[in-house]
Amino acid sequence: MEEYKVIILGAGISGITCAIYLKRAGIEPLIIENNVPGGQLNKIGTIENYPGHKNITGPELSMNLLEQINDIKIEYDNITSIDYENNLIKTSNKEYQYNYLVFATGRRERLLGIDNEDYYIGAGISLCATCDGALYKDKEVIVVGGGNSATSEAIYLSNICKKVTLIHRRDDLRADNILKERISNKDNIEILYNSIIEDYIIEDNKITGVKLKDQTKIACDCIFIAIGSIPNSELFKGDKEKDYIKVNENLETSIKDVYACGDVVKKELYQLITASSDGATVANNIIKSINGSGINE
Ligand code: NAP
Repeated sequence: MEEYKVIILGAGISGITCAIYLKRAGIEPLIIENNVPGGQLNKIGTIENYPGHKNITGPELSMNLLEQINDIKIEYDNITSIDYENNLIKTSNKEYQYNYLVFATGRRERLLGIDNEDYYIGAGISLCATCDGALYKDKEVIVVGGGNSATSEAIYLSNICKKVTLIHRRDDLRADNILKERISNKDNIEILYNSIIEDYIIEDNKITGVKLKDQTKIACDCIFIAIGSIPNSELFKGDKEKDYIKVNENLETSIKDVYACGDVVKKELYQLITASSDGATVANNIIKSINGSGINE
Protein backbone atom coordinates (compact mmCIF):
# COMPACT_ATOMS: atom_id res chain seq x y z
CA MET A 1 0.00 0.00 0.00
CA GLU A 2 1.24 3.50 -0.86
CA GLU A 3 0.88 6.23 1.77
CA TYR A 4 0.51 9.95 1.15
CA LYS A 5 -0.22 12.90 3.39
CA VAL A 6 -2.45 14.35 0.68
CA ILE A 7 -4.19 12.68 -2.23
CA ILE A 8 -5.85 14.92 -4.80
CA LEU A 9 -8.51 13.40 -7.04
CA GLY A 10 -8.43 15.16 -10.41
CA ALA A 11 -5.76 16.91 -12.49
CA GLY A 12 -7.84 19.88 -13.62
CA ILE A 13 -6.88 23.46 -12.81
CA SER A 14 -8.11 23.31 -9.18
CA GLY A 15 -6.32 20.04 -8.37
CA ILE A 16 -3.13 21.18 -10.07
CA THR A 17 -3.15 24.54 -8.25
CA CYS A 18 -3.62 22.69 -4.95
CA ALA A 19 -0.69 20.42 -5.79
CA ILE A 20 1.58 23.35 -6.72
CA TYR A 21 0.96 25.10 -3.39
CA LEU A 22 1.39 21.91 -1.34
CA LYS A 23 4.66 21.04 -3.06
CA ARG A 24 6.05 24.54 -2.41
CA ALA A 25 5.24 24.04 1.30
CA GLY A 26 7.23 20.80 1.36
CA ILE A 27 4.26 18.42 1.16
CA GLU A 28 4.42 15.82 -1.66
CA PRO A 29 0.87 15.11 -2.85
CA LEU A 30 -0.29 12.32 -5.15
CA ILE A 31 -2.75 13.22 -7.89
CA ILE A 32 -5.06 10.46 -9.16
CA GLU A 33 -6.66 11.21 -12.53
CA ASN A 34 -9.03 8.90 -14.39
CA ASN A 35 -8.89 10.71 -17.71
CA VAL A 36 -6.58 13.25 -19.31
CA PRO A 37 -4.89 16.05 -17.31
CA GLY A 38 -6.45 19.47 -17.70
CA GLY A 39 -10.04 18.23 -17.42
CA GLN A 40 -12.63 20.53 -18.98
CA LEU A 41 -9.87 22.95 -20.01
CA ASN A 42 -9.14 20.66 -22.96
CA LYS A 43 -12.54 21.45 -24.41
CA ILE A 44 -12.31 25.23 -24.31
CA GLY A 45 -11.44 26.89 -27.62
CA THR A 46 -10.31 30.37 -26.62
CA ILE A 47 -9.78 31.67 -23.10
CA GLU A 48 -9.82 35.46 -22.81
CA ASN A 49 -10.72 35.93 -19.15
CA TYR A 50 -7.82 34.27 -17.35
CA PRO A 51 -5.39 36.96 -16.16
CA GLY A 52 -1.95 36.86 -17.73
CA HIS A 53 -3.22 35.35 -20.98
CA LYS A 54 -4.92 37.76 -23.35
CA ASN A 55 -5.79 34.82 -25.57
CA ILE A 56 -4.86 31.18 -25.01
CA THR A 57 -6.51 27.90 -26.00
CA GLY A 58 -7.69 25.50 -23.31
CA PRO A 59 -5.36 22.68 -24.44
CA GLU A 60 -2.39 25.10 -24.39
CA LEU A 61 -3.15 26.22 -20.84
CA SER A 62 -3.62 22.59 -19.88
CA MET A 63 -0.18 21.67 -21.28
CA ASN A 64 1.39 24.60 -19.43
CA LEU A 65 -0.15 23.40 -16.17
CA LEU A 66 1.06 19.85 -16.71
CA GLU A 67 4.57 21.09 -17.44
CA GLN A 68 4.50 23.12 -14.22
CA ILE A 69 3.88 19.97 -12.16
CA ASN A 70 6.28 17.60 -13.90
CA ASP A 71 7.89 16.92 -10.49
CA ILE A 72 4.57 15.86 -8.89
CA LYS A 73 3.40 12.25 -9.09
CA ILE A 74 0.23 11.58 -11.11
CA GLU A 75 -1.39 8.14 -11.26
CA TYR A 76 -3.80 7.56 -14.15
CA ASP A 77 -6.31 5.11 -12.74
CA ASN A 78 -9.99 4.51 -11.95
CA ILE A 79 -10.93 4.54 -8.28
CA THR A 80 -13.22 1.67 -7.36
CA SER A 81 -13.95 2.64 -3.74
CA ILE A 82 -13.05 5.00 -0.90
CA ASP A 83 -13.16 3.88 2.74
CA TYR A 84 -13.67 7.14 4.63
CA GLU A 85 -13.39 5.44 8.07
CA ASN A 86 -9.90 4.16 7.38
CA ASN A 87 -8.73 6.79 4.83
CA LEU A 88 -8.21 4.19 2.12
CA ILE A 89 -8.58 4.47 -1.64
CA LYS A 90 -8.81 1.40 -3.86
CA THR A 91 -8.25 1.24 -7.60
CA SER A 92 -8.46 -1.96 -9.64
CA ASN A 93 -4.95 -3.02 -8.64
CA LYS A 94 -3.67 -0.64 -5.94
CA GLU A 95 -4.45 0.72 -2.49
CA TYR A 96 -3.55 4.14 -1.18
CA GLN A 97 -3.71 5.57 2.33
CA TYR A 98 -4.19 9.30 2.86
CA ASN A 99 -4.26 11.76 5.76
CA TYR A 100 -6.11 14.38 3.71
CA LEU A 101 -8.22 13.84 0.62
CA VAL A 102 -9.11 16.53 -1.91
CA PHE A 103 -11.97 16.17 -4.40
CA ALA A 104 -11.02 18.21 -7.47
CA THR A 105 -13.00 15.98 -9.81
CA GLY A 106 -14.77 18.70 -11.80
CA ARG A 107 -17.77 18.10 -14.02
CA ARG A 108 -18.67 16.15 -17.16
CA GLU A 109 -20.95 17.02 -20.06
CA ARG A 110 -24.71 16.63 -19.75
CA LEU A 111 -26.44 14.73 -22.57
CA LEU A 112 -29.93 15.28 -23.96
CA GLY A 113 -31.27 12.04 -22.47
CA ILE A 114 -32.31 10.45 -25.76
CA ASP A 115 -32.14 6.61 -25.90
CA ASN A 116 -28.72 5.15 -26.79
CA GLU A 117 -27.16 8.63 -26.95
CA ASP A 118 -23.87 7.43 -25.44
CA TYR A 119 -23.42 4.95 -28.26
CA TYR A 120 -23.37 7.70 -30.91
CA ILE A 121 -20.64 9.83 -29.32
CA GLY A 122 -18.06 9.82 -32.11
CA ALA A 123 -20.69 8.65 -34.63
CA GLY A 124 -22.47 11.93 -35.23
CA ILE A 125 -22.40 13.32 -31.68
CA SER A 126 -19.49 15.36 -30.36
CA LEU A 127 -19.05 16.88 -26.90
CA CYS A 128 -16.09 19.05 -27.87
CA ALA A 129 -15.91 21.52 -30.75
CA THR A 130 -12.21 22.23 -30.25
CA CYS A 131 -11.40 18.51 -30.35
CA ASP A 132 -13.58 17.50 -33.30
CA GLY A 133 -14.43 20.70 -35.21
CA ALA A 134 -11.68 20.24 -37.80
CA LEU A 135 -13.33 16.97 -38.92
CA TYR A 136 -16.30 18.96 -40.21
CA LYS A 137 -14.56 21.48 -42.47
CA ASP A 138 -17.09 22.87 -44.98
CA LYS A 139 -19.84 20.64 -43.56
CA GLU A 140 -23.13 21.46 -41.83
CA VAL A 141 -23.33 21.00 -38.08
CA ILE A 142 -25.76 21.58 -35.23
CA VAL A 143 -24.88 22.97 -31.81
CA VAL A 144 -27.41 22.50 -29.03
CA GLY A 145 -27.56 24.73 -25.93
CA GLY A 146 -27.92 28.40 -25.08
CA GLY A 147 -25.14 29.22 -22.60
CA ASN A 148 -21.57 30.46 -23.00
CA SER A 149 -20.36 27.02 -24.08
CA ALA A 150 -22.89 26.53 -26.89
CA THR A 151 -22.48 30.12 -28.09
CA SER A 152 -18.69 30.02 -28.17
CA GLU A 153 -18.69 26.54 -29.76
CA ALA A 154 -21.05 27.78 -32.49
CA ILE A 155 -18.77 30.78 -33.17
CA TYR A 156 -15.69 28.53 -33.22
CA LEU A 157 -17.34 26.06 -35.61
CA SER A 158 -18.62 28.83 -37.90
CA ASN A 159 -14.99 29.54 -38.82
CA ILE A 160 -14.54 25.93 -40.00
CA CYS A 161 -17.94 24.67 -41.15
CA LYS A 162 -20.17 25.76 -44.01
CA LYS A 163 -23.20 26.23 -41.79
CA VAL A 164 -23.92 26.04 -38.06
CA THR A 165 -27.46 25.71 -36.71
CA LEU A 166 -27.69 26.61 -33.02
CA ILE A 167 -30.73 25.00 -31.40
CA HIS A 168 -31.87 26.49 -28.09
CA ARG A 169 -34.92 25.60 -26.06
CA ARG A 170 -35.65 29.17 -24.92
CA ASP A 171 -36.23 32.54 -26.60
CA ASP A 172 -32.91 34.11 -25.59
CA LEU A 173 -29.33 32.96 -25.18
CA ARG A 174 -27.99 33.04 -21.64
CA ALA A 175 -24.47 33.81 -22.89
CA ASP A 176 -22.28 36.85 -22.05
CA ASN A 177 -23.13 39.97 -24.08
CA ILE A 178 -19.78 39.92 -25.86
CA LEU A 179 -20.56 36.41 -27.20
CA LYS A 180 -24.12 37.39 -28.15
CA GLU A 181 -22.72 40.29 -30.15
CA ARG A 182 -20.15 38.07 -31.88
CA ILE A 183 -22.69 35.42 -32.81
CA SER A 184 -25.08 38.01 -34.25
CA ASN A 185 -22.33 39.05 -36.69
CA LYS A 186 -21.93 35.56 -38.10
CA ASP A 187 -23.63 35.03 -41.48
CA ASN A 188 -23.35 31.24 -41.45
CA ILE A 189 -24.96 30.69 -38.02
CA GLU A 190 -28.72 30.23 -37.85
CA ILE A 191 -30.25 30.28 -34.38
CA LEU A 192 -33.44 28.29 -33.79
CA TYR A 193 -35.06 29.54 -30.57
CA ASN A 194 -37.85 27.78 -28.65
CA SER A 195 -36.78 24.49 -30.22
CA ILE A 196 -36.47 21.16 -28.48
CA ILE A 197 -34.75 18.14 -29.97
CA GLU A 198 -37.04 15.14 -29.59
CA ASP A 199 -34.99 12.48 -31.36
CA TYR A 200 -31.97 11.78 -33.51
CA ILE A 201 -32.24 10.69 -37.14
CA ILE A 202 -30.03 7.64 -37.61
CA GLU A 203 -28.84 6.14 -40.89
CA ASP A 204 -26.21 3.42 -41.31
CA ASN A 205 -25.52 3.43 -37.57
CA LYS A 206 -24.65 7.13 -37.55
CA ILE A 207 -26.57 10.26 -36.62
CA THR A 208 -27.45 12.25 -39.72
CA GLY A 209 -29.84 14.79 -38.24
CA VAL A 210 -32.35 15.66 -35.56
CA LYS A 211 -36.12 15.75 -35.26
CA LEU A 212 -37.56 18.65 -33.26
CA LYS A 213 -40.65 18.48 -31.07
CA ASP A 214 -42.64 20.32 -33.74
CA GLN A 215 -41.58 17.47 -36.10
CA THR A 216 -39.17 19.65 -38.15
CA LYS A 217 -36.23 17.57 -39.38
CA ILE A 218 -32.76 19.08 -39.72
CA ALA A 219 -29.93 17.21 -41.41
CA CYS A 220 -26.37 17.60 -40.16
CA ASP A 221 -22.95 15.98 -40.34
CA CYS A 222 -22.49 16.25 -36.59
CA ILE A 223 -24.36 17.51 -33.54
CA PHE A 224 -22.27 19.24 -30.86
CA ILE A 225 -23.98 19.03 -27.46
CA ALA A 226 -23.16 21.92 -25.10
CA ILE A 227 -25.95 21.96 -22.53
CA GLY A 228 -23.98 22.29 -19.32
CA SER A 229 -22.47 19.72 -17.05
CA ILE A 230 -22.89 17.30 -14.15
CA PRO A 231 -20.53 17.20 -11.13
CA ASN A 232 -18.28 14.15 -10.82
CA SER A 233 -19.21 13.52 -7.21
CA GLU A 234 -20.35 9.87 -7.18
CA LEU A 235 -17.44 8.72 -5.00
CA PHE A 236 -18.13 11.39 -2.37
CA LYS A 237 -20.44 10.07 0.35
CA GLY A 238 -20.95 13.22 2.45
CA ASP A 239 -23.35 16.19 2.14
CA LYS A 240 -24.25 17.30 -1.38
CA GLU A 241 -26.74 19.65 -3.00
CA LYS A 242 -27.98 18.64 -6.47
CA ASP A 243 -24.93 16.37 -6.66
CA TYR A 244 -22.50 19.26 -5.97
CA ILE A 245 -20.32 18.79 -2.87
CA LYS A 246 -21.23 21.13 -0.01
CA VAL A 247 -18.27 22.88 1.64
CA ASN A 248 -17.71 25.54 4.31
CA GLU A 249 -15.64 28.72 3.78
CA ASN A 250 -12.43 26.68 4.28
CA LEU A 251 -13.62 24.26 1.55
CA GLU A 252 -13.93 21.46 4.11
CA THR A 253 -16.66 18.93 3.33
CA SER A 254 -18.93 17.19 5.83
CA ILE A 255 -16.38 14.32 6.00
CA LYS A 256 -13.40 14.86 8.31
CA ASP A 257 -10.13 15.68 6.50
CA VAL A 258 -11.84 15.64 3.12
CA TYR A 259 -11.79 18.89 1.13
CA ALA A 260 -13.28 19.82 -2.24
CA CYS A 261 -12.36 22.48 -4.79
CA GLY A 262 -13.24 23.64 -8.29
CA ASP A 263 -16.33 22.82 -10.33
CA VAL A 264 -17.44 19.83 -8.21
CA VAL A 265 -18.23 22.23 -5.33
CA LYS A 266 -21.62 23.90 -4.75
CA LYS A 267 -20.85 27.61 -5.24
CA GLU A 268 -21.82 30.81 -7.03
CA LEU A 269 -19.20 31.27 -9.73
CA TYR A 270 -17.78 28.48 -11.93
CA GLN A 271 -14.75 29.92 -13.68
CA LEU A 272 -11.12 28.90 -14.21
CA ILE A 273 -9.99 31.65 -11.87
CA THR A 274 -12.31 30.53 -9.05
CA ALA A 275 -11.35 26.88 -9.53
CA SER A 276 -7.70 27.84 -9.24
CA SER A 277 -8.41 30.03 -6.20
CA ASP A 278 -10.26 27.11 -4.54
CA GLY A 279 -7.20 24.90 -5.08
CA ALA A 280 -4.94 27.41 -3.31
CA THR A 281 -7.41 27.77 -0.41
CA VAL A 282 -7.58 24.02 0.13
CA ALA A 283 -3.79 23.75 0.01
CA ASN A 284 -3.42 26.57 2.55
CA ASN A 285 -5.83 24.90 4.98
CA ILE A 286 -4.08 21.54 4.67
CA ILE A 287 -0.66 23.21 5.07
CA LYS A 288 -1.98 24.88 8.26
CA SER A 289 -3.13 21.51 9.62
CA ILE A 290 0.12 19.74 8.81
CA ASN A 291 2.74 22.47 9.41
CA GLY A 292 0.92 24.51 12.07
CA SER A 293 0.84 27.69 9.98
CA GLY A 294 -0.47 28.66 6.56
CA ILE A 295 1.31 30.18 3.55
CA ASN A 296 1.11 33.79 4.77
CA GLU A 297 1.69 33.21 8.47
P1 NAP B 1 -24.89 26.63 -18.74
O1 NAP B 1 -24.54 28.05 -18.54
O2 NAP B 1 -25.46 25.84 -17.62
O3 NAP B 1 -25.92 26.58 -19.98
C1 NAP B 1 -26.50 25.38 -20.38
C2 NAP B 1 -27.45 25.68 -21.53
O4 NAP B 1 -27.95 24.44 -22.01
C3 NAP B 1 -28.63 26.54 -21.10
O5 NAP B 1 -28.92 27.46 -22.11
C4 NAP B 1 -29.74 25.51 -20.93
O6 NAP B 1 -31.00 25.99 -21.30
C5 NAP B 1 -29.36 24.46 -21.95
N1 NAP B 1 -29.84 23.15 -21.53
C6 NAP B 1 -29.65 22.51 -20.34
N2 NAP B 1 -30.21 21.30 -20.35
C7 NAP B 1 -30.79 21.15 -21.57
C8 NAP B 1 -31.52 20.11 -22.20
N3 NAP B 1 -31.77 18.95 -21.57
N4 NAP B 1 -31.96 20.31 -23.45
C9 NAP B 1 -31.70 21.47 -24.12
N5 NAP B 1 -31.00 22.50 -23.59
C10 NAP B 1 -30.54 22.34 -22.33
O7 NAP B 1 -23.65 25.76 -19.26
P2 NAP B 1 -22.37 26.19 -20.13
O8 NAP B 1 -22.75 27.02 -21.26
O9 NAP B 1 -21.65 24.92 -20.39
O10 NAP B 1 -21.50 27.05 -19.13
C11 NAP B 1 -21.05 26.48 -17.90
C12 NAP B 1 -20.16 27.49 -17.16
O11 NAP B 1 -18.95 27.69 -17.89
C13 NAP B 1 -20.83 28.86 -17.06
O12 NAP B 1 -20.51 29.40 -15.80
C14 NAP B 1 -20.19 29.63 -18.16
O13 NAP B 1 -20.17 31.03 -17.93
C15 NAP B 1 -18.77 29.05 -18.19
N6 NAP B 1 -18.21 29.22 -19.53
C16 NAP B 1 -17.63 30.42 -19.83
C17 NAP B 1 -17.13 30.64 -21.11
C18 NAP B 1 -16.53 31.98 -21.46
O14 NAP B 1 -16.12 32.18 -22.55
N7 NAP B 1 -16.50 32.91 -20.51
C19 NAP B 1 -17.19 29.64 -22.09
C20 NAP B 1 -17.79 28.44 -21.75
C21 NAP B 1 -18.31 28.24 -20.47
P3 NAP B 1 -31.78 27.10 -20.42
O15 NAP B 1 -31.16 28.40 -20.79
O16 NAP B 1 -33.19 26.93 -20.86
O17 NAP B 1 -31.57 26.71 -18.99
